Amino acid sequence: MEAKTFRQWIGRIYATEPVEIDCDEAQMRLPAYVDNELQGGELDTAVDTHLHQCPDCLETYEGLRYVARLEQQGTLAETDGKTEEVTAVAGS
Ligand SMILES: [Zn+2]
Repeated sequence: MEAKTFRQWIGRIYATEPVEIDCDEAQMRLPAYVDNELQGGELDTAVDTHLHQCPDCLETYEGLRYVARLEQQGTLAETDGKTEEVTAVAGS
C-alpha cells in the first residue's frame, strides 16, 4: 500500500511540474529556441515553461526574437556601422 501511495505522489509531482530549468539554463537555450520558433521547428518545452513563469527571461526572449526578425529581413545590415550622433553637452 505504501509503495503505491509513493508512486502516486511521484506521478503527481511529474504531472504538475514539468522539467524545470533555471534562468541560466533558459537563457543559454533561448537562441536555439528563437531559431526553432522562426524556422517552425520543435520548441523546447522546458524553455517555454520557464518563459511563462519568468518575466526576466521573457524579456530576453522578446529581445532575441526582435533581433532575429530584423536579421531575417536584412534590416541590421542597413544600420550596421552607423553610429549615433552624440551632441556635445554645452559648457563642458
Ligand atoms: Zn528566468
